[in-house]
Amino acid sequence: MNWLIGVEHMKIFIGRLRKELGAREEFSFLLEENPPLGEEGAFTKPISARGSITNTGGDFLDLEMEIDTEVELSCSRCLEPVILPFHLQVTEQYCHEEDRGKYFVDEDDGMITPVVFYNDEWLDLSPIVQETIMLNIPMRVLCTPDCPGLCPVCGKNRKEDDCDCPQFQPDPRLEVLTQLRAKLQS
Ligand SMILES: [Zn+2]
Ligand SMILES: [Zn+2]
Repeated sequence: MNWLIGVEHMKIFIGRLRKELGAREEFSFLLEENPPLGEEGAFTKPISARGSITNTGGDFLDLEMEIDTEVELSCSRCLEPVILPFHLQVTEQYCHEEDRGKYFVDEDDGMITPVVFYNDEWLDLSPIVQETIMLNIPMRVLCTPDCPGLCPVCGKNRKEDDCDCPQFQPDPRLEVLTQLRAKLQS
């Protein structure tokens, strides 16, 4: 899902920065509209990204960035909303496509280069902002560490209200296997 890619104002002009050793450009973005997050949940605060890009020499640009936002997800057990504040630190190193040959042997040896290449006078920060947020969204989240979840029998949220349903219900799929095993053994 590319919910951030192409947001125009997340691009930084680095034409000058590239040529000047030690030059540094500070930036600060605030996304006015919260992009959709799909089935995972929703943003509940605008995404803000701020930091700097520094020409550290050797044709490399160093990015240091802080990303702040807030995401609402659902508890994996009871489905109640869970708010997760994000305060993320990112560092990355960029190298212009033109300089690739100077530092990296362009052979298909399966090596993953430790830098990100760009081929423009503009550096687009939206891919790294999106990737960083997505990598930090947990697969499972719980409203409380001991959330008892929904009752598998009556569907009641056992955090709010206890029900009298039996604690253990055999999985119907296991039931089929048990019957099959009994048949084979007889
Ligand atoms: Zn829960
Ligand atoms: Zn129940």
